[in-house]
Amino acid sequence: MSLAQASATARRVLLPATLDRAPPPLGGRVHGFTGRTMGTTWSVRLVAGVRLAREPVFRAIQGALDEVVAQMSTWEPGSTLSRFNRAEAGTWHPLPAEFHEVLACARAVAERSDGAFDPTAGALVDAWGFGPAPRGELPRAARLAQARARAGWRRLDLDPARRALLQPGRLALDLSAIAKGFGVDLVARRLHALGLESHLVEVGGELRGSGVKPDGRPWWVQLEHPDAEAGGAPVLLALHGLSVATSGDYRRWFEHAGTRYSHTIDPRDGLPIRHGLAAVTVIHAGCMQADAWSTALNVLGPVDGTALAGRLGLAARFVVRRGAGFEERTSVAFDQFLK
Ligand code: ADP
Ligand code: MG
Repeated sequence: MSLAQASATARRVLLPATLDRAPPPLGGRVHGFTGRTMGTTWSVRLVAGVRLAREPVFRAIQGALDEVVAQMSTWEPGSTLSRFNRAEAGTWHPLPAEFHEVLACARAVAERSDGAFDPTAGALVDAWGFGPAPRGELPRAARLAQARARAGWRRLDLDPARRALLQPGRLALDLSAIAKGFGVDLVARRLHALGLESHLVEVGGELRGSGVKPDGRPWWVQLEHPDAEAGGAPVLLALHGLSVATSGDYRRWFEHAGTRYSHTIDPRDGLPIRHGLAAVTVIHAGCMQADAWSTALNVLGPVDGTALAGRLGLAARFVVRRGAGFEERTSVAFDQFLK
């Protein structure tokens, strides 16, 4: 781990290890699309000829995101996930391929983060009022104890052959910390299938880029920072076959009696995280992985999180609150992108 000391004016540039030399598509230009999904916005920029038929492309993008919501949203009472959460104990539920893929990744991140990330934290999320039913007050100890008893990724019983999941009784899934990233990946896959290989996909701030623009340059993005003024130099990243996701309580929180609570819960004690982390950004080939790991490392905090990122070779940046300002910690894998 290194503690980056950056001057407030310098711009730091992150480049992927390999930039393929494929020429930009001839005669192409950048087309922009935007829409709404998962309580936030999405945007796509892609390279195609001037005569691109926009409507089918828009439908492919919105359709992919609508599928993710229909399967994995806790906010849709009719989603596959919501129906699973309400199901009787002892019942098996065949999962659509996408749901299965996300749950398998979520379980792997849960295991490797020792439960800091937990896709079965749904009852805890509800107890704190971060789910669809907001609560004006803090949960009482008894309610929290009940919610904790219902959670636990080790209760997941997934039959890979049948792609079916067992409801062991009152297990409540919540995939909100990974589904946005997966939505980005799914949109990118659909664009590839349409032959639109050069694109930048964004859902609620999580990004994935592929190919280059008509001028041959990669898609440059600026990494999110809670306070670019106080926190040092802006970081620019060329998203060439890469994704980036950020988790942080500077974006979204819950307030009670003048106190701000993070909407990310530490499933190990059932409480909103309360260390000094403002944001964790993860760069990964897959946006689903980047999204899940940014949440996992956010829960683990600046000390355990940087240690695990180091051990697993994850490219991560931690923005830690220090008094009125911010301090940055980056993993070795993150620094390797720095040119
Ligand atoms: P953001 O909305 O800032 O992108 P995250 O990707 O970290 O945030 O997702 C936060 C959401 O994930 C919460 O609103 C909640 O539904 C769910 N969640 C909270 N804590 C955890 C956790 N420890 N593991 C998995 N999901 C969580
Ligand atoms: Mg996340």
